[in-house]
Amino acid sequence: MSGFVEIEVLEKDDTNLRLLVKGVDVAFMNALRRIILSEVPTMAIDEVVIIENSSVLHDEVLAHRLGLIPLKTDLDAYNLPEECPCKSEFGCNLCRVSLTLDVEANEEGRAVYSGDLISDNPDIVPVSPNILIVKLAPDQKIRLEAYARLGRGKDHAKWQPVSVCAYKYLPKITIDEKSCDGCGKCVEICPKNVLSKLGKRIEVRRLLDCMLCEDCMEACPKEPPAIKVEWDKNSFIFTMESNGNLPIERIINEALKILDKKCEEFLKEFEAGLKNVEEEIKSH
Ligand code: SF4
Ligand code: SF4
Ligand SMILES: [Zn+2]
Repeated sequence: MSGFVEIEVLEKDDTNLRLLVKGVDVAFMNALRRIILSEVPTMAIDEVVIIENSSVLHDEVLAHRLGLIPLKTDLDAYNLPEECPCKSEFGCNLCRVSLTLDVEANEEGRAVYSGDLISDNPDIVPVSPNILIVKLAPDQKIRLEAYARLGRGKDHAKWQPVSVCAYKYLPKITIDEKSCDGCGKCVEICPKNVLSKLGKRIEVRRLLDCMLCEDCMEACPKEPPAIKVEWDKNSFIFTMESNGNLPIERIINEALKILDKKCEEFLKEFEAGLKNVEEEIKSH
């Protein structure tokens, strides 16, 4: 692994990010991925008090659906319940947000959407107001109070900040022009349209889409194959899709802070362990 890390942003919008990362190894990429999935906190509904529910959904199913609605998250304004000074199982204004839902269908029935939830903090609201919760038949009603709190994906997937977080090696495709006769079998079999045929020449058009399946090598009638698919062990394409709870840069920043803290703790424990061993040796 080289001492320098190079990052190129290949694609970015509000919820999607694709990076080319060079100079790291698979252990680092996997640590980053796992921390993003399981340790970066987000806000989600965790408790629901149902006052009235005459909809077709059972209370438990309704509560489960509410828990899965992504909520905009403010990590600077709220504490994880286990770290909050209130130490209360009911929570306080620093570790809990209350949202209410009070809807009743008229004689035509109505759909209930995430946008019908009223939050006591206008910054902590559903990421989209258009998530369907349930359809009410005429005269059905729902009245409930829901409590959202920060949590981590390792405790429940509803707290995961991302719906996609994956990496793959950066592919390297070479074609031996002396051996290749331009039969096009590799182009036909490629499931990702990475290759294209230009006359008798084969061109690599969409390298980053290659999924390293090696089907092109197997399909090549030449022995050895005139096309070779390899990958660089220290270069990765990293893809993330946020649920919208947190800005995508903040998710990476938080994950790196957590990783940094884990390394510091490891180092501290390691040094303490070494000191104990040294002291034991001295005392003998
Ligand atoms: S390895 Fe698979 S995806 Fe990549 S170019 Fe060959 S057939 Fe296409
Ligand atoms: S299958 Fe082999 S020989 Fe045929 S075009 Fe592809 S690389 Fe060339
Ligand atoms: Zn609290």
